[in-house]
Amino acid sequence: MNSSLGLDQVKVYTIIKNNLPVGFSIVDREGLIVDFNAAAERITGYSSDEVMGKSHYQILHGTADNAGCPLLHLSLRHHENTVETESSIIRKNGGRAILSVTSFPLIDDAGTFLGGVELFRDVTAIKKLERERKNILQMFAHDMKNPVLTSGGLISRLLAGKAGELSPRQGEYLSIMQDNLQRVERLVMDFLDFSKYESKEYKPAFEYFDLKEKIRRVIDSVRVEADNKNIEISYIPPENGPVMIHADPMMLDRVMNNLLGNALKYTDADGKVRVELCRRKKNVVVHVADTGIGIPEKHLPHIFDAFFRGSRDSSGSGLGLAIARTIIEAHGGRIWVSSSPHTGTSFSFVLPTRDAID
Ligand code: ADP
Repeated sequence: MNSSLGLDQVKVYTIIKNNLPVGFSIVDREGLIVDFNAAAERITGYSSDEVMGKSHYQILHGTADNAGCPLLHLSLRHHENTVETESSIIRKNGGRAILSVTSFPLIDDAGTFLGGVELFRDVTAIKKLERERKNILQMFAHDMKNPVLTSGGLISRLLAGKAGELSPRQGEYLSIMQDNLQRVERLVMDFLDFSKYESKEYKPAFEYFDLKEKIRRVIDSVRVEADNKNIEISYIPPENGPVMIHADPMMLDRVMNNLLGNALKYTDADGKVRVELCRRKKNVVVHVADTGIGIPEKHLPHIFDAFFRGSRDSSGSGLGLAIARTIIEAHGGRIWVSSSPHTGTSFSFVLPTRDAID
């Protein structure tokens, strides 16, 4: 049959396949390669003729075991719809490559399982850069931590007169140094925390506790700061009984402190902050809303990115929300924001309750 391009459909298929800017391969139900395009040849180093009819697992993963390729294992054996993953392959020259892969099973109209398709891009260079960036930042933060803490301690001693009396000017200069050093210390500690929470090995220390009471305590701890700006904080938890959740109390403390700290920081004097806790069937939802400066729409997609700051003048590290998101996601939850400039901002997160996890 002719297509609307005026060409035979098989020809159109071949043209599309060979012009695709991503690797494309089809395997049959046994995982044997039955199609392999030009981009796949470039990425793997194998020609189409070399791989045709051969095992995908053996050629690209160096194993006869189909579980060696997680995505084909999932999409071929379990017939999962679309699987997106990163996969490591062995190139013809023996080198390893990291691929970003989308795969899906091929099922005909009668429901018969025919095989699977893989679309892939080589992300080895991007991954290497990401790793290097992380390593540099981590090394930097680790090496900064001790000198910063030691210097901070010594400045405090000098200011306390432990090394003799200071002239007013000496005291003034040392106070400025202390303020600046405290900013660096916050940045270093936030970064080390962020790296820790982000690492796959880090798991929340789960406990069963009352979130209603925990939030009340965090609010109490920021009351002085709120009073200084004459900001009214209201708290609306469910009326009856505690709100028990299975989570890491220290980590949730951190999230609530970050959200409340931001609400106070980005709200002008005489504003309002409202914290609401809602108990639902399988989860709990927390809202922290303020009547502050709001967030421009163009910033909203980046607000949870590490090091993102709305303004260069901000004294923050730009890591508070990235840490909050990492923590909430480590608990199987989700965090989001809605905001309009000059009206206010509302951060919300949802956490599964213990019953939902069990
Ligand atoms: P920072 O340390 O800069 O506060 P965060 O990760 O906590 O870092 O926040 C990132 C950016 O998000 C902030 O620089 C600020 O521009 C914006 N932001 C966060 N919370 C609020 C809020 N409640 N109101 C307005 N802007 C906010």
